[in-house]
Amino acid sequence: MEKIKMTTPLVEMDGDEMTRILWQMIKDELLLPFVDLKTEYYDLGLVYRNETNDQVTFDAAEATKKYGVAVKCATITPNAARMPEYNLKEMWKSPNGTIRAILDGTVFRAPIIVKGVDPYVKTWKKPITIARHAYGDVYKGTEMKVPAAGKAEIVYTNEAGEETRELIHDFKGKGIVQGMHNLDDSIESFARSCFNYALDTKQDLWFATKDTISKKYDHTFKDIFAEIFENEYKEKFDAAGIEYFYTLIDDAVARVIRSEGGYIWACKNYDGDVMSDMVATAFGSLSMMTSVLVSPQGYYEYEAAHGTVQRHYYKHLKGEKTSTNPIATIFAWTGALKKRGELDNLPELSAFADKLEKACITTIENGDMTGDLALISSLEEKRTLTSEEFIAAIRKTLEGML
Ligand code: NAP
Ligand code: MG
Repeated sequence: MEKIKMTTPLVEMDGDEMTRILWQMIKDELLLPFVDLKTEYYDLGLVYRNETNDQVTFDAAEATKKYGVAVKCATITPNAARMPEYNLKEMWKSPNGTIRAILDGTVFRAPIIVKGVDPYVKTWKKPITIARHAYGDVYKGTEMKVPAAGKAEIVYTNEAGEETRELIHDFKGKGIVQGMHNLDDSIESFARSCFNYALDTKQDLWFATKDTISKKYDHTFKDIFAEIFENEYKEKFDAAGIEYFYTLIDDAVARVIRSEGGYIWACKNYDGDVMSDMVATAFGSLSMMTSVLVSPQGYYEYEAAHGTVQRHYYKHLKGEKTSTNPIATIFAWTGALKKRGELDNLPELSAFADKLEKACITTIENGDMTGDLALISSLEEKRTLTSEEFIAAIRKTLEGML
């Protein structure tokens, strides 16, 4: 069989620990035999980040702007324990944070659904994608403990030195106070990323805040979304047969639980933090969750939502067999290949990526899976495979389909 051709390279960002091992296995067994894979390779493994003073992370993000589509392996975000382990010059920042700051995007997370791993919520039939705004609010807040009676105010001073004041509270005794902010620019980027991703995936978009209580802060989010939708997206949504739906956050939570899924739920920063863990857990497994960063300019970076699976890596280093789930990492590759296929008009490439996804799902539904899934799967006949055996099983299913 002739290998499928690519025209534009993917930006390939390699990573760390067990996911780095899986990365190579996925390429060797599931991609290189079938696709004439073109990538521009960046090694974001901690060893090379340290050698280049993290320059490689910046270069990889810039390359994503050049080519438009990247696929990323999970990477270590260094903490104190990693300093001696990797003999680090500095406690380098989270690569995801660096890339996000350069591409200015929104992260969309969606579960991969398979028979046997059933959501805890009975009505959920289709994935729910969470889009979390990644700037500001309580994450960039300023806080103070109020020690005793006194007045707390918000003071804004314009460039001419004129002040505007709002009373927060006239304290009669001890208390606490918090100030936070957001930027119209950032909210606009967030809104456009969400509208673009909804069009891209042909799913409805839901957005919710607490605008009835927060009449200026949250209301601004609501207004910016509404205005951008009316002016730039309404006709496109109509043509695609999808909807934009705004409601209050508490109403949204109730509707999400009663829904059958199949939409994107855009959340403010804090809501997204909390709700993405709730939705991920309710769908069954973190190892079955994909993640894509979409920039307002339309750059895409695909990855798995989980980390480098450190515990499994240490077993691997001792020569023990692991049963680490590669599905979310495979879906990062298929997401990126499909996007490349779409942008470069290579339907064969997109079709291959679709088949590889189906092969993954069919393999699991036939009872062959990794340990994490075997623990929660309700299938009667299931076999726990090692990482290598599982990837080999997917390859066999895929070859049967091609
Ligand atoms: P983790 O890698 O997500 O793993 C936590 C635990 O979840 C594992 O020990 C394993 O449980 C289970 N698990 C996660 N993914 C799995 C998979 N694919 N197959 C089977 N089991 C899986 O989180 P962590 O151990 O807290 O973090 C390790 C490193 O990852 C850290 O250095 C962190 O900085 C980094 N990290 C990177 C990213 C990213 O690059 N996007 C995201 C998160 C964390 P059992 O051990 O019980 O089997
Ligand atoms: Mg969280």
